[in-house]
Amino acid sequence: MIETVSNSRNAMELEDRHGAHNYHPLPVVLAKGDGVFVWDVEGKKYFDFLSAYSAVNQGHCHPRIVKTLQEQAENITLTSRAFYNSVLGAYEKYITEYFGFDKVLPMNTGAEAVETAIKICRKWAYEKKGIPEAKAKIIVCENNFHGRTTTIISFSNDEGARKNFGPYTPGFIKIPYDDIDALEKAMEDSEVAGFLVEPIQGEAGVYTPAEDYLSKAADLCRKNNVLFLADEIQTGIARTGSLLAVCGNCTCEGHCERQSTYLKPDILILGKALSGGVYPVSAALADDEIMNVITPGTHGSTFGGNPLGSKVAMTALEVVRDEKLAKNARKLGNIFRDRMNRLIEKTDLVKLVRGKGLLNAIVVNDHPDSETAWNICVALSKNGLLAKPTHGNIIRFAPPLVMTEEQLHECCDIIERTILNYKK
Ligand SMILES: *Cc1c(COP(=O)(O)O)cnc(C)c1O
Repeated sequence: MIETVSNSRNAMELEDRHGAHNYHPLPVVLAKGDGVFVWDVEGKKYFDFLSAYSAVNQGHCHPRIVKTLQEQAENITLTSRAFYNSVLGAYEKYITEYFGFDKVLPMNTGAEAVETAIKICRKWAYEKKGIPEAKAKIIVCENNFHGRTTTIISFSNDEGARKNFGPYTPGFIKIPYDDIDALEKAMEDSEVAGFLVEPIQGEAGVYTPAEDYLSKAADLCRKNNVLFLADEIQTGIARTGSLLAVCGNCTCEGHCERQSTYLKPDILILGKALSGGVYPVSAALADDEIMNVITPGTHGSTFGGNPLGSKVAMTALEVVRDEKLAKNARKLGNIFRDRMNRLIEKTDLVKLVRGKGLLNAIVVNDHPDSETAWNICVALSKNGLLAKPTHGNIIRFAPPLVMTEEQLHECCDIIERTILNYKK
């Protein structure tokens, strides 16, 4: 029998009893979403300040994206790649033009797209760079977050994500983030094939590197014939105020290569908002000299490139451009950090605010093991705003990019009121 969920307590009990305990959610049960708002089972309305970890940049249940999903669902949803389908080619043309690459390899989840990039990079290392078989190394950064597969957690330094999941996949060199000297040194090793990096470390707590870190890193990659792999799963698709974080401070609405600040990755990794949160769609993009190492049988996925996801992704990307979401994220981000800096002057509870566009975080002035950030998030939820702590004392604030300026001020009022009234 299929249970009807009658109230929040009931829903939480069901999850607790029948689901694996791989998450520790805030005690809020969401039943509906529309734009920047979500509603719980009891009908209480909240501002969503997490956006499903930046997957719903376009806002919840965007009508254009949902309409595309409905229409395509009535035609055909899945063909597998054993056959061609009538949508995939158009999607591949659209997304490669949109981001300026020769080719795309479509997958479903973010972790799969990262795995895809790692596989392409390794194959390129052996077939193009001439690294001896099984020797290729990929440089990664400390405190990275690239997903949850066995290979990806092999190079994580989050104990919770790693412990007791070994043996680990070899072939990764870990260096400190935002440390260009460490990167230069690591590249002295001629068996290095790639550098995998998040332009801003979202999961770690929205760590924004020095202004010139990425451009210096990209230069080092070029100089050493090492592939620059940008994981823009969280930072991409307008979140940080430009189409991609590697666009620098480019203010054009789509992709362009005119801007001198653009750092073209050798492999661009996308997921999350690529579908506006409507359907799992991810991608690895590269130019021919790299992507052509992939030949029939070397990689794949039953659902990757399916017509439903492909159609949804095209509309999701159109929405980003048509609604000028990058511009909005840029503008609202400045207002947000300004408001938070003014709040910091009035309280000892918050140490600092950092971020770019609408990917921001505040650091709570307490020990990372303390409950303070969690308790603030519970208090925020009571006041109608949903956010989640990351790494103990950090709270990430990442609302959908369709928010208005007026709504953002209302949200800042809620955050300010909650923090000023918070009692330890
Ligand atoms: C979320 C995320 C991933 C993993 O995506 P999934 O869809 O959860 O597998 C990888 N990299 C970054 C930077 C992310 O934010």
